[in-house]
Amino acid sequence: MQTIFLGAPGCGKGTQASVLAEKFSIPQISTGDILRKAVKDGTELGKKAKAIMDAGGLVSDEIIIDLIKERFNQPDCSKGYILDGFPRTITQAENLDKLLGSKSPIKAVIYFDVQEDEIVKRLTSRRTCSSCGYNYNMFTDPPPAGMECKFCGGKVIQRDDDKEATVRNRLVVYKEKTEPLKNYYEKQDKLIVIDGARSVEQVRTELIELYKKLAH
Ligand code: AMP
Repeated sequence: MQTIFLGAPGCGKGTQASVLAEKFSIPQISTGDILRKAVKDGTELGKKAKAIMDAGGLVSDEIIIDLIKERFNQPDCSKGYILDGFPRTITQAENLDKLLGSKSPIKAVIYFDVQEDEIVKRLTSRRTCSSCGYNYNMFTDPPPAGMECKFCGGKVIQRDDDKEATVRNRLVVYKEKTEPLKNYYEKQDKLIVIDGARSVEQVRTELIELYKKLAH
């Protein structure tokens, strides 16, 4: 079963995608994670993407579509997946539809509805382990005092793109480029809106129930 988690940066889609992917034994495909790994590994792709990501812009559709094609060829995608952070533009969505054709179309697009003020608060208070990627929150789930990850001992940092000026830019880009996807998938009758402002546990419970229904 193929689904898309859609919403503004910081709406909680990545956190929920990782829990659901584990529960239903399917991969979470996060283009942001793939790009961050490329930056860390210093690959050609990473070099091209770094400045754009740091400024809160979008990496070109062409690069992203190539990257997704490559990821779909891996065997763990055969039972389905959760797309997290892709598609982010209408061009990406159209290419995805073409790529999947009628054989294995997207089953549902889950839109995480969260107000902008809450998004800014969540993103600027987010801290991330530079080693395992675990996301902490300075208010609700603070990292240990020494900023060493409680899971892997890695250094916990604030992502450059979680600093306030960049967050504001990411939201502008989101509204202009990504929000139109709501309408795109509504027209395809695939959009399911959930209230993403609730606690992580409440959203997770709703999503698990939803997933069970979608699977039947
Ligand atoms: P994320 O972790 O999903 O918020 O992604 C972090 C950054 O990676 C974004 O701000 C973009 O610069 C880039 N990125 C991730 N996914 C995409 C995508 N589908 N299209 C273009 N840029 C992307």
